[in-house]
Amino acid sequence: MREPDGGRFGAYGGRYVPESLIPACAAVESEFRAAWSDPGFRRDLDRLLAVHAGRPTALTPALRLSAELGVTVLLKREDLAHTGSHKINNVLGQALLARRMGKTRLLAETGAGQHGVATATAAALLGLDATVFMGEVDIERQALNVFRMRMLGAEVVPVTGGTRTLKDATSEAMRQWVTCVDEAHYCLGSVMGPHPYPWMVREFQRVIGDEARRQCAAELPTAVPDYVIACVGGGSNAAGTFAGFAGTGAQLIGVEAEGGAAVAFGRAGVLHGFRSYLLQDENGQVTEAHSIAPGLDYPGIGPEHAHLNDSGRARYVVVGDAEVIPAVRRLARTEGILPALESAHAIAWLIRAAESGELPPGSTVLVTLSGRGDKDMATLMEAS
Ligand SMILES: *Cc1c(COP(=O)(O)O)cnc(C)c1O
Repeated sequence: MREPDGGRFGAYGGRYVPESLIPACAAVESEFRAAWSDPGFRRDLDRLLAVHAGRPTALTPALRLSAELGVTVLLKREDLAHTGSHKINNVLGQALLARRMGKTRLLAETGAGQHGVATATAAALLGLDATVFMGEVDIERQALNVFRMRMLGAEVVPVTGGTRTLKDATSEAMRQWVTCVDEAHYCLGSVMGPHPYPWMVREFQRVIGDEARRQCAAELPTAVPDYVIACVGGGSNAAGTFAGFAGTGAQLIGVEAEGGAAVAFGRAGVLHGFRSYLLQDENGQVTEAHSIAPGLDYPGIGPEHAHLNDSGRARYVVVGDAEVIPAVRRLARTEGILPALESAHAIAWLIRAAESGELPPGSTVLVTLSGRGDKDMATLMEAS
């Protein structure tokens, strides 16, 4: 392991990777830095986001829910993006970057399969190969997404070590990257991992917050909402949303799943190349997260969120499984929108906070709906 040489958010982040991966991370960093200040790259990405992914996504005033709760709720509709969530924003950016670096293959980890499907989609679009590492347990649980990835031409590699879930799939993807760095780019799925990933993925997701900021300005007399709320797994949809409101007075609120609440129940430690809050046992072993929402099943949180928490700029709250399904039903019946179980965590906290008076009546609230609920219908059927 080597000490981090940059990419810190306060005491968090860094680049804690084996010596053999330092040059690969440094190459991604310098290429991203160049691409992000290259108007040609930005134009290509903006065009793909528009013509392939369906951006800008809508900002929907949730009128009936607002009337019930006594606050003004605006929904940023990432559920309307291609492949059904915000993940496409990041993978299109990284796939374009990979092509710019002359790479022919994307490697990715996936838990529930959402990031794997998005990666397979971007790879197909740009004519790249895709190899997706997935724990054996998750492969069994998420057969439909495995089939989707294979239909899109990706190779899905079962990971048999450890608990055979997302944590092990991520470790294996990083191990395999060492063996093929010349032709492969590691397309990481959230604001985690070694520098530059937490920064780069946040920049690729900033489009959510930048669009929402403009859309809120057109929709609200105050231009900026009082509260900005998003669910947090690794934290990419929240980081992208928050980035658009960094210089405002909006209160930023990240909602973690109770069984994966790294800020509430974790301690600082190092995993997958970065330092942040992690769920750990008394010996410092990272423990498994459990949530009804597969995308929130990660035992850590992106390093920028750890820093936003410590500095007080953002606040992190917790929602349990039991509150999530009623929140799905409430949004479905008031607004005609079936949110992903992950996104429903943000809605559940909104409902709780509005009904308890924690959100003053008349407040304005932006909620990022990170994805659509179609993928969760089997879970919902079992629970009803
Ligand atoms: C993956 C996923 C998440 C969690 O990822 P973040 O990096 O925390 O945004 C949230 N919602 C949906 C719909 C997802 O697919």
